Amino acid sequence: MSDCLKTNGYLLMEDLANAPGVPSAERRKQGPVAIFECIQEIPCNPCEQACDKDAVRVGSKITDRPELNAENCSGCGKCVSACPGQAVFIVDESKGDEAYVTLPYEFLPLPDKGEIVLALDRSGSVLGEARIVRSRLLDSMDRTAQVTMAVPLEWSMQARFFKRKEA
Ligand code: SF4
Ligand code: SF4
Repeated sequence: MSDCLKTNGYLLMEDLANAPGVPSAERRKQGPVAIFECIQEIPCNPCEQACDKDAVRVGSKITDRPELNAENCSGCGKCVSACPGQAVFIVDESKGDEAYVTLPYEFLPLPDKGEIVLALDRSGSVLGEARIVRSRLLDSMDRTAQVTMAVPLEWSMQARFFKRKEA
């Protein structure tokens, strides 16, 4: 693991290289799938408890990192809202030139469908424009909404948040 998470508070792509919760490039092309950007060995497992597809497993040693069974994952997003660390995203690379990235969002008001925002990478740097595809806050989400944004395909593993443009 790089020192970037400890020093700067965000992950580098190299930190995810061998993480057990990261779906393969092949699986990402097949449709929505969860990605667990959870690489520290912390005592935590709400993601496992939220999943009714047996698609993520922490196991009996609660400090183990979550392991994804990507074939079972439907991309439903229950684990996204359940994660207290906001470390779970849904990536869908089956949309042609675009990727859909779904992220946890705890601000109000939610962005509108069709709104153009600025996609940010893990460090908070601006990648460029993204389009909001969906915002939703269901009772079952326990106040952590989910927002899906469409980004250029090459940003699917980079774009992890957004900021709204000035009105
Ligand atoms: S997206 Fe749904 S099916 Fe996939 S791991 Fe999360 S809760 Fe399970
Ligand atoms: S709920 Fe989030 S922080 Fe906790 S183990 Fe799962 S992915 Fe990691």
